[in-house]
Amino acid sequence: MRYISTRGQAPALNFEDVLLAGLASDGGLYVPENLPRFTQEEIASWAGLPYHELAFRVMRPFVTGSIADADFKKILEETYGGFAHNAVAPLRQLNGNEWVLELFHGPTLAFKDFALQLLGRLLDHVLSKRGERVVIMGATSGDTGSAAIEGCKACEHVDIFIMHPHNRVSEVQRRQMTTILGENIHNIAVEGNFDDCQEMVKASFADQGFLKGTRLVAVNSINWARIMAQIVYYFHAALQLGGPARSVAFSVPTGNFGDIFAGYLARNMGLPISQLIVATNRNDILHRFMSGNQYVKDTLHPTLSPSMDIMVSSNFERLLFDLHGRNGAAIANLMDTFKQGGGFSVEEDRWTEARKLFDSLAVDDAATCETIAEVYKECGELLDPHTAIGVRAARECRRSLATPMVTLGTAHPVKFPEAVEKAGVGQAPALPPHLADLFQREERCTVLPNDLKQIQAFVSQHGNRGKPL
Ligand SMILES: *Cc1c(COP(=O)(O)O)cnc(C)c1O
Repeated sequence: MRYISTRGQAPALNFEDVLLAGLASDGGLYVPENLPRFTQEEIASWAGLPYHELAFRVMRPFVTGSIADADFKKILEETYGGFAHNAVAPLRQLNGNEWVLELFHGPTLAFKDFALQLLGRLLDHVLSKRGERVVIMGATSGDTGSAAIEGCKACEHVDIFIMHPHNRVSEVQRRQMTTILGENIHNIAVEGNFDDCQEMVKASFADQGFLKGTRLVAVNSINWARIMAQIVYYFHAALQLGGPARSVAFSVPTGNFGDIFAGYLARNMGLPISQLIVATNRNDILHRFMSGNQYVKDTLHPTLSPSMDIMVSSNFERLLFDLHGRNGAAIANLMDTFKQGGGFSVEEDRWTEARKLFDSLAVDDAATCETIAEVYKECGELLDPHTAIGVRAARECRRSLATPMVTLGTAHPVKFPEAVEKAGVGQAPALPPHLADLFQREERCTVLPNDLKQIQAFVSQHGNRGKPL
């Protein structure tokens, strides 16, 4: 399988190189040159497979040529064997034909584990074959950092540096990162905010001299492998609900458009999906596009659903690429306009095309809490605030009551006790057994000033299993 850039100028790469790449050299994002397509009979024959075996069948075409079948099977079995629920991604029923797909049974209790548990193992596999080491630098406001650290902790060929804003992440989120001890794991608390952290990661990708030749790898959702891993659970859910003979609708709590883009790809690979709902919080750039064809940056509003607090959705470029007939030059232009402070609209027929599949809703904090309380009262399910936004949007935007509606349950409610408390449904639930002693565990973290030179010096001093590069 070959991968091409959404801006049309960077060289095509194979899976292995895409895994190790961040942005394409022309500033674009990598997408498969040709999407695999499965027949209805083929998809139907996968009903009842264990999750890792389904994952093998869905993802195999994306990695052929780079990873041998036997190796890939073994990696997938290990990846999803570590989840705390036998079904890996169980469906929970809320109401007649209404479901939540629980994607929070991985080690860090958010859906990001599905991709990052796999990514760490794929990286180590490829790097040991090549005899190379890499450094990962990432910025986090919470969920991505812990999932990336958990995914990479056993990697022999990876050192991972995760920056979070000092004193500005929740205690559970901080402890989920800082209590994972290993000589290749480096938590940096930056005396600044999340944007400062993100800027320093970007600057480090642009100028890698301080790494002395070691390659820098991205773990945010611009990494193709993350999107790829998320395609699987759309197939998994649909197969439980009568697919592919019957179509299914999904509502997806959305920030960077990675998770819902995976659903769009699943549909293009042959899975009958009749509707995809983009559910956002008050940071609603995607809702403004879907409802009014306006893609315009706004200021950042902190909300009760912090993992969806974004101003710009990086993966949206991948959808725009398809909407423009995969014309890289057109996307480069559009992104230039956007960068120069302008927003943009797309031509009417392209927008109409998108709206055949996508609907959207922006849900504010008050409505989020209302939905947590409502669902708790209806069926005793305690939703996290991100999932609650998805359920709200599902209920308001659903096109057909006859079609099963699945909201992606993106995080466990224990991670966001503030929203649960505000919703007035009593205490947040206890931590699951594998995290029960989280507050007693030893923490390791380095506090550094908001200064690029000092951060880069730290990485350079510790980037080889704690020793200098
Ligand atoms: C990351 C995250 C999201 C948003 O996913 P995107 O792929 O960025 O759209 C939603 N909910 C939770 C809990 C998350 O951690």
